[in-house]
Amino acid sequence: MTDLMFDDVSNPSQEKVNLLGLNLKDMERFFLEMGEKKFRAVQVIKWLHQRGVSDFDDMTDISKATREKLKRVAEIKVPDITWQDYSKDGTRKWVSKMPGGSSVETVFIPEDGRGTLCISSQIGCSLDCSFCSTGKQGFNRDLTSAEIIGQLWLAAKSFDKPGVKRERHVTNVVLMGMGEPLLNFDNVMSAVDLMMEDNAYGLSKRRVTLSTSGVVPNLDKMRGRTDCSLAISLHAPNDELRNQLVPINKKYNIEQLLTSVKGYLASLPDKREVTIEYTLMEKVNDDLAQADELAVLLKDIPVKINLIPFNPFPNSGYRRPSNNRIVRFRDKLSAAGYNVTVRKTRGDDIDAACGQLVGKVEDVTRRNERFIKLVEQGSSAAEVARNRAAR
Ligand code: SAH
Ligand code: SF4
Repeated sequence: MTDLMFDDVSNPSQEKVNLLGLNLKDMERFFLEMGEKKFRAVQVIKWLHQRGVSDFDDMTDISKATREKLKRVAEIKVPDITWQDYSKDGTRKWVSKMPGGSSVETVFIPEDGRGTLCISSQIGCSLDCSFCSTGKQGFNRDLTSAEIIGQLWLAAKSFDKPGVKRERHVTNVVLMGMGEPLLNFDNVMSAVDLMMEDNAYGLSKRRVTLSTSGVVPNLDKMRGRTDCSLAISLHAPNDELRNQLVPINKKYNIEQLLTSVKGYLASLPDKREVTIEYTLMEKVNDDLAQADELAVLLKDIPVKINLIPFNPFPNSGYRRPSNNRIVRFRDKLSAAGYNVTVRKTRGDDIDAACGQLVGKVEDVTRRNERFIKLVEQGSSAAEVARNRAAR
């Protein structure tokens, strides 16, 4: 985060820091560098994230002089919502316009006693999984930590009523919208910190879930950095099929991925299961023999399996299996002793089914093709990330 901080308060040309994206540690550093007391960090984080304030002048326990000083070096930039909609089933969707013209989608899914927010981490995605509409759009850029946490900020605020103390509607967050969170590691980690920070949203580590297609070196980096929950987009029981569906598997195969997952689980202070996501596509990965193979593959890892019936999009080339095929696949895994759920498709009428969040990705120059080439040539994820950042 060093480059986000300012070190010269008197330099007016310095780009303003968006305070919305700073976790507690970075916010404390920010105030110390500004010559202010560390405790201001907690005050400001509470204003921003517990009360949904976006104007320094509303922060009434901070002196006017400090607020003026803050305005000179910092800003509070919240998402620019261009569109929102409710589904018949209570699902809500927001589309936020990002600088540059692209947009990202955020979805809220209410379910008995809980509310899950599905948020995006990048504009587009460079990994090009064969069945994913986000991947098909290519990659535009990483979201900043402010743009990531901003999605929770706007969802929480959308339920506020004037004069009434805020209630918690969003109880769970899943990083399952657009993008591959582990390819935007630092920004995603800062946002995840804020989700779990008591002075911000205070969500339990069991209720904040990062979903990854398996960027193994960065999954290894999560150990000791965070203790949020993990979901793995597996989708296939063997490397041959996974190479076709999830191209990053050619770089980090299933064995490497599962070893990394076990390492992460072992690093957690509590006993936790990892969620295995398996998008079911007819006659691609939904045969009973594949359920058997999956049952063997996962036998010594504490998992719950989430089957996602494929969400169709134009020219995908895949079909959603019939209910019969979904049920028999599920039952096979249940009979093998697994805890299996089938994800209900929600918000269909407003195109808000998770894994179907496409937003609008502008200015893409087939970067994903270059990414895959780099992966195939054996570049490390860090090299690939550097290469992407340089473009
Ligand atoms: N990049 C991350 C998180 C975003 S995708 C990842 O891949 O895990 C969220 C989930 O939706 C992933 O499991 C993804 O494989 C799945 N998904 C993508 N496209 C889908 C589709 N068309 N139908 C059903 N699930 C899909
Ligand atoms: Fe990217 Fe995930 Fe879609 Fe794959 S499934 S292209 S990793 S968003």
